[in-house]
Amino acid sequence: MNTAVSAASLYNRVSRVIPKAEWMSFEEDVEAILELKRKRNAVILAHNYQTPEIFHGVADIVGDSLALARKAVDVDADVIVLAGVHFMAETAKLLNPTKTVLIPDTEAGCSLADSITPEDVALLRKAYPGVPVITYVNTSAAVKAASDICCTSGNAKQVVEALGVPRVLMIPDEYLARNVAKETNVEIIAWHGHCEVHELFSAEDVRQLRENHPGVTVLAHPECPPDVVAEADLAGSTAVMSDYVGEKKPARVVLLTECSMSDNVAVHHPDVEFIRPCNLCPHMKRITLRNIRTALEENQHEVVVDANVAVAARRAVERMLAV
Ligand code: SF4
Repeated sequence: MNTAVSAASLYNRVSRVIPKAEWMSFEEDVEAILELKRKRNAVILAHNYQTPEIFHGVADIVGDSLALARKAVDVDADVIVLAGVHFMAETAKLLNPTKTVLIPDTEAGCSLADSITPEDVALLRKAYPGVPVITYVNTSAAVKAASDICCTSGNAKQVVEALGVPRVLMIPDEYLARNVAKETNVEIIAWHGHCEVHELFSAEDVRQLRENHPGVTVLAHPECPPDVVAEADLAGSTAVMSDYVGEKKPARVVLLTECSMSDNVAVHHPDVEFIRPCNLCPHMKRITLRNIRTALEENQHEVVVDANVAVAARRAVERMLAV
């Protein structure tokens, strides 16, 4: 395949969200990445919060944390490049131990993952003996290893109820835990971690949005504070939001989540008006076409998970995938 033609033809996909002049500045890297993927038998996994030139331009598999975790299992490639943050790359490595997993920037972290350590989990277990620990996937492999089972924003309630116990610890996202607690009879003990992007939304923002954009449908991510979720029409993971827009085709919608999500969903729905209050994740935005290209050229930065940690962390992830 002629890579130059391929990169240029990709523009049709993103023309609604990327100006032509800007896309032209991306073309050289897109072409190089397409060629490198073929040469190295590599695939790119991109989270919904990646910018459209990555998400629609070079990614092979896209989705939220749960989708990436699931699809990573079936990846038929020698190399996986994770266009997302570090815990996602670790999860891909846990599920693909024999493959080379690369993250283009090792500083692509997460405020939730940084909010808790395995030592904190040990202290929680002491404080609440016998209470199972459910860990949101936005955590390090070491914290997952210290836990009983993982969850994502897409399956948190399901996981809580699948354990069949009256009380669980759900770490580290306080808001996710409180939002799930409203939907279940299981008692949930929360940690105090927050997503630095979603905690910026307020209930007042939602009221203002409704006033300024009559008829707007408000979809909120469950990492938003509970009073924001209470004001929204629906709370759900990025996959739920995307499906909702596809199925219900609201005339006007606002997605209370990271900025790039609206761009990526809007590409498929020219008939829907997206209102875009913009909160950027600085960690997600560390990933660029240029450093994806360098990752493939230089085989950097390889994600390595300690063997003992990997066994226990994989168990927690696989338990989640089995739910
Ligand atoms: S959006 Fe929030 S939860 Fe997601 S990577 Fe950024 S800081 Fe972490």
